[in-house]
Amino acid sequence: MSTDCLFCKISQGDIPAKLVYEDESVVAFRDINPQAPQHFLLIPRKHIRTTLDLSEEDAALIGHIYLVAGKIATQFDFADEGFRVVNNCNEGGGQVVWHLHFHLLGGRQMGWPPG
Ligand code: 5GP
Ligand code: ZN
Repeated sequence: MSTDCLFCKISQGDIPAKLVYEDESVVAFRDINPQAPQHFLLIPRKHIRTTLDLSEEDAALIGHIYLVAGKIATQFDFADEGFRVVNNCNEGGGQVVWHLHFHLLGGRQMGWPPG
């Protein structure tokens, strides 16, 4: 937990968000500025700054987040048509919130390469 971290505050319920999933280690909620008809953020409750701050002990946690992504896509009925899971790491990767998160995007055709 980082006291000045937006996503830690969302995970603790101190800042409101449209939660769609939570368990003991993971929280998922709708992105405030959606880039697709379906746009969710999946975060670990544990404060991890970036992908580069992950350690071996977090491997199961990240695997769990991917399983949750698939469940949410199924729940909101865009799994079969297709979706994208994205992690932006550091400034050059487009990261602006410094708590590890995975974007789950769906509900439209995705372009490639991403911008
Ligand atoms: P990044 O660019 O760091 O990968 O993505 C950060 C994401 O967090 C952005 O898509 C942005 O719209 C989202 N975001 C920023 N502040 C808030 C907030 O207060 N609530 C929610 N639900 N999403 C936020
Ligand atoms: Zn945090």
